Amino acid sequence: MIESLRAGLLQWFANHARDLPWRRTRDPYAIMVAEVMLQQTQVDRVIPKYQAFLATFPTIEALAAAPTADVIRLWAGLGYNRRAVNLQRAAQVIVAQHGGKVPDSVAALRTLPGIGPYTAGAIACFAFERDVAFLDTNIRRVVRRLCVGPDHLAAVADSVLLAHAEALIPPGQGWAWNQAIMELGALVCTAVSPTCWRCPLRQYCRAYAAAVAADTALAEMMTTPALKRVAEPRPAEPFVGSRRWYRGRIIAALRALPAGTALPLFELGRQVRPDFAADHEQWLLQLVHDLARDGLLVITEQGVRLPA
Ligand code: SF4
Repeated sequence: MIESLRAGLLQWFANHARDLPWRRTRDPYAIMVAEVMLQQTQVDRVIPKYQAFLATFPTIEALAAAPTADVIRLWAGLGYNRRAVNLQRAAQVIVAQHGGKVPDSVAALRTLPGIGPYTAGAIACFAFERDVAFLDTNIRRVVRRLCVGPDHLAAVADSVLLAHAEALIPPGQGWAWNQAIMELGALVCTAVSPTCWRCPLRQYCRAYAAAVAADTALAEMMTTPALKRVAEPRPAEPFVGSRRWYRGRIIAALRALPAGTALPLFELGRQVRPDFAADHEQWLLQLVHDLARDGLLVITEQGVRLPA
């Protein structure tokens, strides 16, 4: 059964895969850039940024040696700016300690700044074609529905899902398999409305079987309560006015300055919130110090600016 399940998904991927630029390369540096960008940003927004980033910093050495301010400026529009700083730090470690070669093992990749279990697995798999299992949002959702089913309202431990993900990988075809399962999660087994009728895994899927057993008509399959419970997105955190939102506004204000220019703290405060007053100074200072600690800005006598 596992053989036909694998063959079905791989065939579907061969027929339906989107042509994404990072699927055309095995260059570890390019894959690393793509995977860091894709951590928290959607594919459509990543594509132009990925291309611009590689055009500006074509090699890992170029990225390692670049002014950090340039890296942060180029990251505009992707959000989570700390990723930009960590990506450059990872490049600097790779140049200094690995002779400019991206490590090919998950263990070595995990030691790099900003590289967590997902990104390490993705780089090992997509750059070096290792049969490595890892979980991103899409893989986690597909594996849970396929191997666990729809009625598990309690969270399923990642270690359990990872074991399932590992067992599914066809030996020697980890690259295609992980791309395929991610693609299925992005295009078919989506969070809110999985289109099971066109899914190559339907006949093996526990969530689908549970819905059919509950006597659900196929036409209602995508909205059946059993699946909907699995699919219900978590309530979104309020973003506007959040700490992350203000962090983004501070970096956006600094990006708009001419290179090397600092912005006085009070002026920065007025730019990030129109009601800025003296009693907001401590709040702003805390944000600024946190951003400085993350390497996203420096504090000078003249004010704050992007790192050189
Ligand atoms: S049959 Fe439906 S729930 Fe199961 S993997 Fe396919 S799209 Fe997802």
